[in-house]
Amino acid sequence: MFDDQSRLSERLDNAGLLPAAGDFPAEGRLAVRDPATGDLVAQVAISDANGAKAAVDAAQAAFADWSATLPQDRAAILHRWHALILAAKEDLSRIMVAEQGKPISEARGEIDYAASFVQFYAEEALRPNIEGVTSHLADAEMELWREPVGVAALITPWNFPCAMITRKAAAALGAGCTVVIHPSAETPLSALALAVLAERAGFPAGVVNTIIGDAATIVGEWTADKRVRALSFTGSTEVGRLLYRQSADTVKRLVMELGGHAPFIVFPSADLDRAVTEAVKAKFATSGQDCLGANRFYIHRDVYDEFCARFTKATQALTMGQGMDDPDIGPLIHERQIDKQVAHVQDALSKGARLLCGGKVDDLGPLFFQPTVLADVTDEAAIMHEETFGPVAALSVFDTEDEVIERANASEYGLVAYVHSQDPRRIYRVSRALQYGMVAVNRTKVTGAPIPFGGMKQSGLGREGARQGLEAFTEIKYVCRDWG
Ligand code: NAD
Repeated sequence: MFDDQSRLSERLDNAGLLPAAGDFPAEGRLAVRDPATGDLVAQVAISDANGAKAAVDAAQAAFADWSATLPQDRAAILHRWHALILAAKEDLSRIMVAEQGKPISEARGEIDYAASFVQFYAEEALRPNIEGVTSHLADAEMELWREPVGVAALITPWNFPCAMITRKAAAALGAGCTVVIHPSAETPLSALALAVLAERAGFPAGVVNTIIGDAATIVGEWTADKRVRALSFTGSTEVGRLLYRQSADTVKRLVMELGGHAPFIVFPSADLDRAVTEAVKAKFATSGQDCLGANRFYIHRDVYDEFCARFTKATQALTMGQGMDDPDIGPLIHERQIDKQVAHVQDALSKGARLLCGGKVDDLGPLFFQPTVLADVTDEAAIMHEETFGPVAALSVFDTEDEVIERANASEYGLVAYVHSQDPRRIYRVSRALQYGMVAVNRTKVTGAPIPFGGMKQSGLGREGARQGLEAFTEIKYVCRDWG
């Protein structure tokens, strides 16, 4: 346990995980604060547009050699990175708690999750990258070669400070791309620690380049740079749209993992105990700051009152506190997140909702918002349309399957939907009808390195994880040969 920040800094320094100024031109420093206490955790050197450009210079210079390495050699380095991440799991978890605030068990779980992508793409790098085609031309033989696109820019958010980096970087690096990485200003230490471990794993200079600085400046430089051939972004739909537009001039390949607004649907045949347990996970994991977080709960009239009572009881039993005390719920990341919880609760109440528990900032500190349950929330309430990204659950009653599908699909988001039922025909019909990239039936956890994660509609473009996660970082070259 570390109980004061000097011990944390000392521990991280000893592990060599607190980097110095970095390799690129630095202009000033960024203060990193613990969201639970407001305490200063560290100051990090930040780069400007020159630093962003220098990172692309380095990545571009390294690309020819890196893309020509044998897949076996790339896999060996990825395997070493994987082992180093797991060996540093405790330090990485504590860094994450200090800058992000998440409970330590969740932080440890994220490190395992983050490492799993590195292992997966170390192995996937070895899979064939050539495909034959049955020829339609006399005497010709044809092949499709999958080749790395070049420099890839990876832009990540603060809610999963390690996993969002490795999910992108391992795929890009395994495919033979070099990368420039811009993490969130809230969580630079996790990103820098991963970069230190990548260097120790043996990635050659210029292959992995992590840059901290003003997002619009750094990422703006990269979207304008034609040498950056792919851009993979995880964050809000609003910023995703902006980067989509900015990437148009240089026609980059894009992966966009954007916002979610998950419906959680409970039909009368559901196992209610299980539905309540899974609902608590779907709403309150990552303190509600999760793109997969359930925002809207549609509960069939036959089980509505019972569900409301049991879910409220389970919510009231959740603990809140500082991450190292391993509560169920930690602080939110910043003031804006608190403002959104308050606004969504007040708006829903003004439109007829009932407050079953929580509803306000806790005495623990200005960034702790109590786990909250609202019942009888009408479709007019903002929380039924906007991502809340915090520990507020909105419950609403429904009567028919058609009605709930229509209401669940009435969103520009389409990342994940949760369904609880024990009727196989209904499960099939509803899974088909939901316009979501992922459908979770009778469970909450669905993610992992072997599955293609991603959303429909304005929840994003492309997929991360699985074989599909390589697509944006590679392109197909078609070769047609005639031996003459
Ligand atoms: P955000 O869009 O505000 O910021 C994400 C990152 O984008 C930041 O860390 C920053 O580095 C960069 N950025 C911000 N403004 C920019 C600008 N003007 N130009 C260039 N880059 C800019 O999102 P956030 O608040 O950090 O994260 C929460 C959002 O991320 C939620 O909407 C959530 O649903 C989404 N998310 C999606 C997934 C997914 O896989 N689909 C996973 C995690 C989070």
